[in-house]
Amino acid sequence: MKESATQIAEYTQAMIEAGRLFHGHGWVPATGGNFSARLSPDRVLITASGWHKGELSPEGFLIADLDGKPLDSTRKASYETLLHMQIYRHDSSAGGVLHTHSIANTVLSRRLPEIRLAGYELLKLLPGINTHDAEVTVPVFANDQDIARLAAQVDAHMKRHPETPAYLIAGHGLYAWGVNVAQARHRVEALEFMFECELWSQKQ
Ligand SMILES: [Zn+2]
Repeated sequence: MKESATQIAEYTQAMIEAGRLFHGHGWVPATGGNFSARLSPDRVLITASGWHKGELSPEGFLIADLDGKPLDSTRKASYETLLHMQIYRHDSSAGGVLHTHSIANTVLSRRLPEIRLAGYELLKLLPGINTHDAEVTVPVFANDQDIARLAAQVDAHMKRHPETPAYLIAGHGLYAWGVNVAQARHRVEALEFMFECELWSQKQ
C-alpha cells in the first residue's frame, strides 16, 4: 500500500507539534523520547535517531515496517523502534505511539514497582475508563539496553494484562498510545499530570 503524501505531511505535523509541546514541559530533554504514527497496517512513520524532539522537521522522520526496518536502508530509525512496533503489533487499533522522559515519570519509575492511579478525573482519558472512580495500574519494567528483549517482556505482560493503558521503563520514561497521534498526546498529557500529582503527594 502506498502512503499518500498528504497523510505523511499531516502525521509529521502532528508529531512536530507534540514534540514542541512536550519539550516546553521538559518531558523530552535533549534527544530523549521518540514518536510514531501508523500509516497503514504494516507501515509506520517514526522519528529518526538522534533528533532533538523540540526541534523536529520533516527530515527527522522515516518510514519503517513492523520489524523496525527502514524502507530507505540509508536511514537509521530510533534506537527504541521495536518498542513502538510491539504496540502496533499487539493492538491493531493503535495509530500513534509517544514516548517521553519526564522528571516525574523518571523519579516515580525508579522508586516504585508499578504506579497505581486512582480517583483522578483525568483517568477518563485512558482506554476503557469513563469515571474518576477507577484505579489503573501502570506497570514498570526494568530498563534494558537490549530493546528486543525488553519488547518481548512488554509483549508478554500486555498479553496477560490487555487492559494495560501505558507503561513505564524504570529511570527512563513513559510509553503511551492511542488511535492516532492526538489521542496518544492527550494520554501522555493526562498521565504526566497524574505522575506529577503523585510525585507532589509523595513529597508531603
Ligand atoms: Zn527512551
